[in-house]
Amino acid sequence: MKGLWLLLVLVAAATAEKLFVGDQVIRVNVELEEDIQLLQALETLEWKLDFWLHPVSTELPVDIRVPRSSLSAVKRYLHDHNISFSVIIDDLQELLDEEKAEMEKNQMKERSTRSFNFGAYHAIETIYSWMDTLVAQHPNLVTKQEIGRSYENRPMYVLKFSTGGSKRPAVWLDTGIHAREWVSQATGVWTANKIATDYGTDTSVTSLLDTMDIYMLIVANPDGYVYTHTNDRMWRKTRSKISGSVCRGVDPNRNWDAGFGGPGASKNPCSESYHGPSAHSEIEVKNVVNLIKSHGNFKSFISVHAYSQLLMYPHGYSCSNVPDQPELDSVGRAAAQKLTSLYGTSYKVGSICNIIYQASGGSIDWSYDVGIKYSFAFELRDTGRYGFILPANQIIPTASETWLALKHIMEYIRDHPY
Ligand SMILES: [Zn+2]
Repeated sequence: MKGLWLLLVLVAAATAEKLFVGDQVIRVNVELEEDIQLLQALETLEWKLDFWLHPVSTELPVDIRVPRSSLSAVKRYLHDHNISFSVIIDDLQELLDEEKAEMEKNQMKERSTRSFNFGAYHAIETIYSWMDTLVAQHPNLVTKQEIGRSYENRPMYVLKFSTGGSKRPAVWLDTGIHAREWVSQATGVWTANKIATDYGTDTSVTSLLDTMDIYMLIVANPDGYVYTHTNDRMWRKTRSKISGSVCRGVDPNRNWDAGFGGPGASKNPCSESYHGPSAHSEIEVKNVVNLIKSHGNFKSFISVHAYSQLLMYPHGYSCSNVPDQPELDSVGRAAAQKLTSLYGTSYKVGSICNIIYQASGGSIDWSYDVGIKYSFAFELRDTGRYGFILPANQIIPTASETWLALKHIMEYIRDHPY
């Protein structure tokens, strides 16, 4: 066992992969308003904390990944201020080792059976080659389009589901804009396959695609996604270089031209929510903006994140209600009800600002402000037991329940043209 551990350390060192041995994820129970300020102060201290869920209100939990080196200091701080907490993940590296072992086992199985397992996490190359398989299986429905390249020159592929026509009303669906939220990309893969296989057999999907197109960007942040596989499983941002900083990457969901640089985004390049030097500075964001604008007939824009189990609509940069708030809220609630009907998974519904926190420069604020009324964002499973390290055996249940919500939203759009 000791030998194996040494081997893992050596392999990791050789590939420069970041280890999280002894790191814990703790959940802080916020009871008083002043606790929030005390926790926010932690965000700025040099303890290298990674806030999985930020301290914003007494209604919501706060999850923090604490490096082993800071554990005793953080626990002492919380104790001294009478703030209670529990340990959700006792040793993050153990979970990551399990995740990696399962991926490797699955890879061998897929190779020997020449099949693709939708209930597993995959490297970008596998996802990209699976896209070709899907297109080959459904040549009259699915096409693959390169919408541009990432900062590190990886292709960004959109799957377009269309039965004809030109620039039909369209639905946009992106997954994986935040690299480490792996269940998002995996849900995108499952969903694309579901749409393709249901067309012609499921009356709802068939009627949808007879009048509308669906565009799916499954790996919205390719460089970040690769980096989570090779170097740092906890990477969230893009990988662009920032002049004048040793830190890399921009939060691609703070980079859109919608309240850019406002509250809930950081101007510090080392922050996980760094908004970037300017709106649309990230090529990954710019490529999507260009496609949406040149198309001109998107009726819905849906971004899929993890985790927290939320279904949200604009705005994030402001807490005032958008003009379509009543309609978006009722569509969102009905969609969440469909989702819950499958396994009882509970979701909260509301505007980003009211349900989580004020966050500027987000994708669905941009899409709404350019006139795409049905703009939504999902935060998929779970509510913090595993956080970003959701076990692969939850991929298909997560995708299946989410599909019911997505289908409801798309049916509503089909029946309410504008
Ligand atoms: Zn996210």
